[in-house]
Amino acid sequence: MSRLILIVEDEKNVAELLRDYLANEGFEPHIIDHGGQVVPWVRCNNPTLILLDIMLPEKDGITLCREIRGFSSVPIIMATARIDEIDRLLGLELGADDYICKPFSPREVVARVKAVLRRTTGGSSSGSDLITIDQEGYRVLARGQDLGLTQVEFQLFIALYTQPGRIFSRDQLITRIYQDHRIVNDRTVDSHIKKLRLKLSKIKPRLDIIHSVYGIGYKYEESDG
Ligand code: CA
Repeated sequence: MSRLILIVEDEKNVAELLRDYLANEGFEPHIIDHGGQVVPWVRCNNPTLILLDIMLPEKDGITLCREIRGFSSVPIIMATARIDEIDRLLGLELGADDYICKPFSPREVVARVKAVLRRTTGGSSSGSDLITIDQEGYRVLARGQDLGLTQVEFQLFIALYTQPGRIFSRDQLITRIYQDHRIVNDRTVDSHIKKLRLKLSKIKPRLDIIHSVYGIGYKYEESDG
């Protein structure tokens, strides 16, 4: 089982203290201090558990919890600085697995992490059941099979996959896939998308996860089932 724990915390000393305690217990902690970076990272790295602070720059923990629950059942422990806020959070039914109040002792956090993991072991992973990303190898696997993407197709896929549901225009995709701002036109994007879909359909016919949005661009979305 992976021991990767994501710590989302903008207070550097708190984050580092948690990281040290978790590392001592044999976990592999990773710190993110900006709300905006969380969802793309979770999609690509499939953490075992997420410690999620509520007050964060860019995007707060409540919004993040909702977004993550849109695609994943990864265990989430939320941290708030106010004990009276926990009732309100429970009322929001965010789908978090536990709540802890700051200031907390790192020992208590480690105990909660272990308790939540015991309760949720055997649960599904945090990423897509369908897709696995191999960042180092520039590979995308669908149902465990390598799609054999080119580098451009890989970057195109990652751009869409890490922000499911978001519609990207062709221009936005071009700036993401060509860092050197090479002159390319819309049809280049369309042709890469076409090849990407073809490769997906070889794994599973009618595997519809890259959707074109008429007049705008493309988005990634896994339909149910
Ligand atoms: Ca904070």
